[in-house]
Amino acid sequence: MSSNDSAPAQLCAAESGDGDALATLRRVWGYESFRAGQEEIVRAVLAGDDALAIMPTGGGKSLCYQLPALLRPGLALVVSPLIALMQDQVAALQALGVEAGALTSANSFEENTEIRAKLRAGSLKLLYVAPERLAQPDTAYMLARKGVSLLAVDEAHCVAQWGHDFRPDYLAVGAFRARMEQEQGERLQVAAFTATADEATRAEIIDKLFTPQRPPRAFIRGFDRPNLRLAFEPKANTTARIVDFVKERQGQAGIIYCSSRKRAEKVAERLNAEGVRALAYHAGLPSEQRAQNQRAFVHEDGVVMAATVAFGMGVDKPDVRYVVHADLPKTVESYYQEIGRAGRDGAPADTLTLFGVEDIKLRWRQIEESDAPEQRKRSDRGRLQSLLALAEAPTCRRQTLLAYFGETLPEPCGGCDLCQEPQERYDGSIIAQKALSAIRRTGERFGVEHLIAVLRGDPNEAVVRHEHDKLPTFGVGADLQKHEWRSVFRQIYATGLAAVDLADFGGWRVTEAGWEAMRGEREVFLRKDSKTQQSTRRERTRGGPMLAADADPDLYRALKLKRMELAQEHNVPAYVIFTDRTLAEIASVRPQDEDALSRCHGVGEAKLKRFGRIVLDIVAREAAA
Ligand code: ADP
Ligand code: ZN
Repeated sequence: MSSNDSAPAQLCAAESGDGDALATLRRVWGYESFRAGQEEIVRAVLAGDDALAIMPTGGGKSLCYQLPALLRPGLALVVSPLIALMQDQVAALQALGVEAGALTSANSFEENTEIRAKLRAGSLKLLYVAPERLAQPDTAYMLARKGVSLLAVDEAHCVAQWGHDFRPDYLAVGAFRARMEQEQGERLQVAAFTATADEATRAEIIDKLFTPQRPPRAFIRGFDRPNLRLAFEPKANTTARIVDFVKERQGQAGIIYCSSRKRAEKVAERLNAEGVRALAYHAGLPSEQRAQNQRAFVHEDGVVMAATVAFGMGVDKPDVRYVVHADLPKTVESYYQEIGRAGRDGAPADTLTLFGVEDIKLRWRQIEESDAPEQRKRSDRGRLQSLLALAEAPTCRRQTLLAYFGETLPEPCGGCDLCQEPQERYDGSIIAQKALSAIRRTGERFGVEHLIAVLRGDPNEAVVRHEHDKLPTFGVGADLQKHEWRSVFRQIYATGLAAVDLADFGGWRVTEAGWEAMRGEREVFLRKDSKTQQSTRRERTRGGPMLAADADPDLYRALKLKRMELAQEHNVPAYVIFTDRTLAEIASVRPQDEDALSRCHGVGEAKLKRFGRIVLDIVAREAAA
């Protein structure tokens, strides 16, 4: 899409009261109102304050520097870690009629020439700059002459040396700022953005990007993502379950996170065999293949990505409609980051996390067998326990998740799996005693399947060989099904009554708390586990989460087809034309004229002008059909 047709002319009207911010949000983006936390950040940036904003993924950070950039004279520089991400952001801005460009090592000579020309003409409002460009001394020299008014640092946690996404290039940002200030002869405003909130990272960002004399104003927005539905399910037939889940959501983009390359390949293969367009992404693929698959996922419509956690950072696709974890994620933080990639557009999105005892054992083994110092191992164990507690949470999952981040949600959310299907709890003291005694009597050396065989009185080869069919515990649990016992074991595990000893073949062991339960000094409440069947039933009746009841599905399909065409024609991701949410709204409202269309979510001035006629024609044609 060429950037110089139809750029709204008065974008840089310098006077910027609060009213202007809202008016610009509506006119340029076509959004009705600010999201929680955005407005105060926009105001602070407009007022010239240095700022550090911490907002969850999908919270709408970009707008917090893009909008002020439009309202103020001069150029805003944006530092962002990944080239693909910059290009998508620039394409999205250009589609909104905003003059934006990127200065990266991937630029062609023509692109660089075009950017320099625009810089000279002073027409550029936002310039994305790769961090390695900042380190080059001539960059500051060149830019300082253009009147830079703001330095926005996206993914600011990349500056933190002990963090998970450290980028050495980011260390150049502080020096770049100092050089710019010297060249420009005045202070340069800095606004930093991240979704990582831990205290240590925050301190490091402040230390590296700001100075003690001028600490930033900090904005911390809560972690809740109300449009994400949270659900966990014990594993049973994992691949088949995933296929079902995906097929219920045909045509929607989604990510399936897998714990291994092999699993990612297998899931993608199975989905393709079922007629779903699915791709794989993991570190074992050649880098061109990875880039190509990522591009297809971002640019095309409704692609499913089966990936390891190597996939995600830098994928800024707003209309990912679901994230499935085929295996237990690593920690609560990584779980939160990964599910956070769904539903950035604010429309409902689904998440589903599958977990089994094997996953849990694997995690323990990884911790125990690593060469990390004991102190690190201890904290890893604690983090794993928190994740398990979330998986086995007795009530509202969102409350449990937010509690982990130190936030309280006063009421149960009503939207998670546990709110929608409250778990029946029962006094499980006797059952827990049976399980614990099976662990004890077999010598604390066996895994869960063996223990279940003993409890259910199954005289299989291993049971007989160890003479466990002669134990008093043999057969005392015949009244429960295997899957019910697995749930009991997960729960006594999650509540700390039993531990898994990895040094000793992964055998289960009774803990101090477990002994109390065995002696009857501690009551144990367990929850019934018939979730697998129930959730399948529920989904069958739900239909896609996007379309409202009054929407015209044929119109929606027709709009999506047209969007695909336009995206290919302009060589931009489909969502850059319109997001799913916008199309779904149009399919409900069925606008007859430009005025009605302009009131739909995500239809701003530039898009109305460029695509309005096309959309209205489709609406009219479908109405006549
Ligand atoms: P983040 O960087 O915080 O993960 P983004 O800036 O990518 O989030 O925003 C996520 C999505 O939400 C984008 O598609 C963006 O256009 C959209 N968005 C941002 N602010 C609003 C708003 N006030 N109303 C509606 N949608 C918004
Ligand atoms: Zn809930």
